[in-house]
Amino acid sequence: MSSQQVSTRIAKLSPSETLAMSQRSSELKAQGVDVINLSVGEPDFFTPDHIKAAARKAIDDNFSFYSPVSGYPDLRKAIVEKLKRDNGLEYTPAQIVVSNGAKQSVCNALLCIVNPGDEVIVPAPYWVSYVEMVKLAEGKNVVVSAGIEQDFKITPVQLEAAITPRTRALILCSPSNPTGSVYSREELRGLAAVLARHPNIIVLADEIYEHINYVGRHESIAQFPEIRDRVVVVNGVSKAYAMTGWRIGFLAAPEWIAKACSKLQGQYTSGPSSISQKAAVAAFAGPQDCVEEMRKAFQRRRDLVVELCGEIPGLKANVPEGAFYLFPECDAYFGKSAEGRKVENAADLAMYLLETAHVATVGGAAFGAPNCIRLSYATSDENLVEAFARLKKALAALH
Ligand code: PMP
Ligand code: GLU
Repeated sequence: MSSQQVSTRIAKLSPSETLAMSQRSSELKAQGVDVINLSVGEPDFFTPDHIKAAARKAIDDNFSFYSPVSGYPDLRKAIVEKLKRDNGLEYTPAQIVVSNGAKQSVCNALLCIVNPGDEVIVPAPYWVSYVEMVKLAEGKNVVVSAGIEQDFKITPVQLEAAITPRTRALILCSPSNPTGSVYSREELRGLAAVLARHPNIIVLADEIYEHINYVGRHESIAQFPEIRDRVVVVNGVSKAYAMTGWRIGFLAAPEWIAKACSKLQGQYTSGPSSISQKAAVAAFAGPQDCVEEMRKAFQRRRDLVVELCGEIPGLKANVPEGAFYLFPECDAYFGKSAEGRKVENAADLAMYLLETAHVATVGGAAFGAPNCIRLSYATSDENLVEAFARLKKALAALH
């Protein structure tokens, strides 16, 4: 074995495709290329002023010491109140663990419940990191695919068919990254009824796009009493409050899972940034009109991109009901060529679009849907109009 060999655990891990594509786009930009970045999913808005003011005050008030591993009591209280106010869910502060982003919360939960060989059901299309986190936990991904004809949502029959005696968890993301699909209360009820018959399964409900919803009130699978004591709700400030760089997420879980996550975090990262936590208190407990303003902007952009995408014959999209992604099928272009290069798959297509149209997207394979491509529309209307004009031209050149 060479001295420079990383562990098998890390060798088996794929790098984050969303972050990699975004980095490629930044590198091209740094070289002076006018790239429009539709690859990474993050709001283009600035963090609202009252939240920034709370962070400044935290610095002045000397919140510069280690925070409790699970988060400051006032933040956990604000989260408990948020869950009651927005979701009608009752929790105690002891059930809340604050982490460095929702990403860490998902990973904490998986590491705390999955034993080697345990199966985790991951509906596809899925967010890139889920399957990699399951691998880190030495679990086995059981991917259940839902195509565009079922609006990318799995059915209770599919769920039931995927369950075995080794099933330990289900990861459910609604509103979904990468499809923008939103499970209705009735659809969640159907899944909950199946889960109620399998008491060993924990549900990891990733609700980070809760507020970016175009069909009304957010519905959480945690609302069904028959499975309530087995649901871990993950959420945070990144998307709703335009705070991706502040790194604050949380999970709300049965106390035994929260305790385990706190133990893990205590040995691994400690409590997240003290300043960011104080900012997050202002986000959850302060005025909420900024959330609605940003949601409205995203809805306008959703309408715009659905219309613009409809003008490109080779792309077939659903109408996303939440989040800020469009996930069209693009396999009509596979096997075609332009400028001496052949597009064999979605990754080739994303690379072709980056290099010829200077529009950054992400191929669907990393999301478990190799016939699709992801476009994030969390950017200005002008950028979107220009990006789609470029996409239309570059795609029309493929023969
Ligand atoms: N879950 C999903 C579905 C996401 O899209 C993201 C965005 N990165 C996260 C979790 C992680 O969010 P955070 O930035 O709070 O870690
Ligand atoms: N969730 C965003 C995305 O999917 C951010 C990047 C990441 O964390 O993977 O693009």
